[in-house]
Amino acid sequence: MGDIIGALAAITGERHVVPGDELRSRPMDFWTNEPTLARALVKPGSTEEVSKVLALCDREGIAVVPEGGRTNLNQATRADGASILVSLERMNAVDAPDEAALTVEAGAGAVIQTIQERCAASGLRFGLDFGARGTATLGGALATNAGGFQALRYGVARDQVLGLECVLADGTVLSHLSPYRKDNTGYDLKQLFIGSEGTLGIITRAVLRLHPAPATVATALLAFPSFDAAVRTLARLQRDLRGTLSSFEIMWPEFFERNVEALCGARRPVVPGAAVYGLCEAEGFEPDGDPALFEAVVGAALEAGDIEDAVVAQSSRQRDELWRIREDFEAEQRLFTVPVDFDVSLPLGAMEAFATEVEATLRREVPDVLGLHVFGHLADGNLHLTTGLPTPERIGALKEVVYSLIARYHGSISAEHGIGVLKRDYLHHSRSPAEIATMRLLKTALDPRGTLNPGKVI
Ligand SMILES: Cc1cc2nc3c(=O)[nH]c(=O)nc-3n(C[C@H](O)[C@H](O)[C@H](O)COP(=O)(O)OP(=O)(O)OC[C@H]3O[C@@H](n4cnc5c(N)ncnc54)[C@H](O)[C@@H]3O)c2cc1C
Repeated sequence: MGDIIGALAAITGERHVVPGDELRSRPMDFWTNEPTLARALVKPGSTEEVSKVLALCDREGIAVVPEGGRTNLNQATRADGASILVSLERMNAVDAPDEAALTVEAGAGAVIQTIQERCAASGLRFGLDFGARGTATLGGALATNAGGFQALRYGVARDQVLGLECVLADGTVLSHLSPYRKDNTGYDLKQLFIGSEGTLGIITRAVLRLHPAPATVATALLAFPSFDAAVRTLARLQRDLRGTLSSFEIMWPEFFERNVEALCGARRPVVPGAAVYGLCEAEGFEPDGDPALFEAVVGAALEAGDIEDAVVAQSSRQRDELWRIREDFEAEQRLFTVPVDFDVSLPLGAMEAFATEVEATLRREVPDVLGLHVFGHLADGNLHLTTGLPTPERIGALKEVVYSLIARYHGSISAEHGIGVLKRDYLHHSRSPAEIATMRLLKTALDPRGTLNPGKVI
């Protein structure tokens, strides 16, 4: 088609189509400083418009790349100069939460923090939270099945969804905005689209599960004498905090010390020299009892020698300061000329051996590697590893070392960030040939012309 821009404008209105040359000054995503390449960016205002845009592009053989806040970490929104980007930023309404049914319905363009705040104003909690909350959208978080800080308590993005509406590549609308916790009416189609990174359909709306907002929050930064002591403390807190533990994060010393130095200077929150550091948080409903219980359980772990030193936040400002030590990984990124990040799942019992073996193997097989920083969501079995190289030539060799080790430890090469472009060629380390063939079958069945987000995942 000669005038695709005109045809898109006829669907959404001219001011909702941005021509490609106006996108070039915009970075492709949060992490990649490359310009956005696309023929145009279109911003539909309704599911019907999304359907018409997709039907048009599918008919004309034009690739479509859905985008949300562009905060993904795997180049999952990378487009070439012939593709059309589809943003749902106009479809961002968040309905009033249903306080009895504990549900809320929202458009896929709604920003995660906006959903959190809307629910909090009604005394409710939306159980998904991660560092990019102020930019990432519901559609993007569902399409990547994001995890984050509270998966221990509330589950990952998939666990928040009761009903879903999405549009297939040919424009077919699948709308099942079911608000029910119980709905066994055949195949659970929504699960196909959650975590599919925009390759099977465009998510337009969702009905989300909510929880009563907790009345208390207690946060502690912990220094552990050993990794095993951290794991024992996690078990203790899960057992003794009456189900209120909501986060248990882990930081290896290299990561922790760099962030403490950058953020706290000489005001160190806990003693130096620990084997690993943790950040834990509990959210409860008993203002009279929760703070004392939290201090008592942390105190018992100190007494047992499983915690070397601890600081319990005394105000919300102190809480934020402690969380920044864990959340801020930009200092890490700046440290490495060419940073290479990993986001893996492993059995808790294998994590320490894995981290030690990765470091030793990298030093042996990729000697120009510039260090290794490890942190993550211990309670979810999810580690993030950041390393780097002086130049990009050896990135492939570095990744092969880490992913081969992951396969040997029976881990997952992507715990929560998805596959996108960057991990596509390594999928076989975590998925069998039969599983990958079944994924291809699904892709072909739902998107036979390969219109949606080509080159991602498989
Ligand atoms: C500082 C920071 C911290 C982060 N921390 C975490 C963390 O703790 N845990 C975690 O899991 N992730 C984390 N992330 C990554 C996180 O997965 C993404 O930020 C988020 O899930 C993507 O949302 P987005 O709106 O930015 O989507 P985008 O990046 O725009 O898109 C992501 C993928 O979803 C697709 N997509 C977007 N919208 C739709 C739609 N409506 N329908 C279908 N497909 C769509 C895109 O094509 C792409 O494949 C972090 C990112 C940053 C920048």
